[in-house]
Amino acid sequence: MKLITFLHAGKERAGVLSDKGILPFRGDPSLLSVIKAGVIPSFTGEALSPEDVRLLAPVPRPEGDIICLGMNFTDHTEEAARFDPVMLRENKAVYFSKRTVEATPPGGKIPAHRDLTRMLDYEAEVAFILGRDAAGVSPEEARDCVFGYTILNDVSARDLQTAHKQFYFGKSLDGFTPMGPCVVTADEFAYPPDIPIRCYVNGEKRQDGSTHQWVFSISDVLCELSRGMTLKSGTIISMGTPAGVGMGFSPPKYLQPGDTVRCEADGIGVLENTVE
Ligand code: MG
Repeated sequence: MKLITFLHAGKERAGVLSDKGILPFRGDPSLLSVIKAGVIPSFTGEALSPEDVRLLAPVPRPEGDIICLGMNFTDHTEEAARFDPVMLRENKAVYFSKRTVEATPPGGKIPAHRDLTRMLDYEAEVAFILGRDAAGVSPEEARDCVFGYTILNDVSARDLQTAHKQFYFGKSLDGFTPMGPCVVTADEFAYPPDIPIRCYVNGEKRQDGSTHQWVFSISDVLCELSRGMTLKSGTIISMGTPAGVGMGFSPPKYLQPGDTVRCEADGIGVLENTVE
């Protein structure tokens, strides 16, 4: 099931993207509240045409920072370590957080923040969203914690990311979290998922990987983190990016105003944004 958040007649609503059109949830709950409840509500009976709505990020205002994995693809670890050895991962997962006041919708603009960075970069990723609280999760229980999957572009200012010892500032500027176009429920994928993900900049293919290449799996991450911290339902965890980001090229290929970044994940859809 593909779940979306959208604007219709000036109102933010959520529903299902189906063959019949968009089916809004009865009572107009937010998608985040649906995810946290873990139950898909009934529909209103109306079917809206996709032309009559404007998609928003499926979770436009996440609760809490997004949890991110760094260096979770071996090929990306190698290119990142060439850029700056500080990024080298040893045998432990790299976790960091990404503040997202408002996620950028499909088709939305990524601000270039030219006063702060000249090293604007993209990272196409598959993220998952928890459908229940996770504390002390066992490997057998991890799968049942996953509500669904979406595409997230972990936009990064490389100069800020490396200047401040921690990634936080360089990952968290306004507009740095394009997300969407939908959340696909976990039952539509095998577990662990094998979701191909690609990224194009101005039509040039830059990234081409799949989630089977994750060094640390969803089960690894949920078991490890939930041993010591409760992860609340609705938490978004972004699982890292494959090789081919701008900093990995020689010379680097950073994003410029006017560039279009298109992230695709099979079974989820397309997330395209333009830098301004
Ligand atoms: Mg990332």
